Amino acid sequence: MINIVIFGAPGAGKGTQAQLLAEKFDFLHISTGDLLRQEVAMQTPMGLRAKAIMNRGDLVGDDIVVALLDRALRQRSTLPNPDAAVDPWDRELYGDPHRPEGCIIDGFPRTVQQAQTLEFIFNKLQRKIDCVVAIDVPHDELVRRIHERAAISGRADDTEEVIRHRIELYDQQTQPVLDYYRVSGMLVTIDGSGEIAETNGRICKTLELVMHLKAKR
Ligand code: ADP
Repeated sequence: MINIVIFGAPGAGKGTQAQLLAEKFDFLHISTGDLLRQEVAMQTPMGLRAKAIMNRGDLVGDDIVVALLDRALRQRSTLPNPDAAVDPWDRELYGDPHRPEGCIIDGFPRTVQQAQTLEFIFNKLQRKIDCVVAIDVPHDELVRRIHERAAISGRADDTEEVIRHRIELYDQQTQPVLDYYRVSGMLVTIDGSGEIAETNGRICKTLELVMHLKAKR
């Protein structure tokens, strides 16, 4: 069981890498951006509240994001009795080979307040974060990728102006979260300026090391 948090500015490839890692290591992948987009698509009350905020590139309120995250972490869809008051992560108990060994959280936390909330949620679940991966891409390269992405992405928040605003918010609000994890000794910064496979190789090596060290403890 290993729990990872992944960071990266818009254009850094955080979502792509999270997806690849989830497939390779059989992690539960939780993307708060995807969870929010699902709510928007289903026009739920939360989605209706989030839509305009997301389209502007601003941060959605913690009440909504935390509720979605909490629900995803507790998902019991693969349990024999979804209502049973048991630990939904207990693979040994249920012997289901498809149950994830751990999780990768992408898009959360984005503020120091959210980092504290995540710690609280994990404590309640008797889990801990094992590694925080930050994908580092120089601003010039982010801007280059954004031009590309704005042309092909179907996302309403992928216009150049909105992406620039999201990068600004990342620098202002999310960089301090990285300092928080750096001080706690959990942060690993990965060079994400190259090709997807190259970055993926670097992250995989780091995670394999984290798993190896954890297994030895
Ligand atoms: P990106 O990393 O490219 O900005 P995401 O899919 O992670 O893309 O997020 C898309 C949007 O969803 C954000 O701009 C924000 O509006 C909203 N969002 C996602 N995660 C959070 C969060 N933890 N707190 C607040 N808003 C969030």
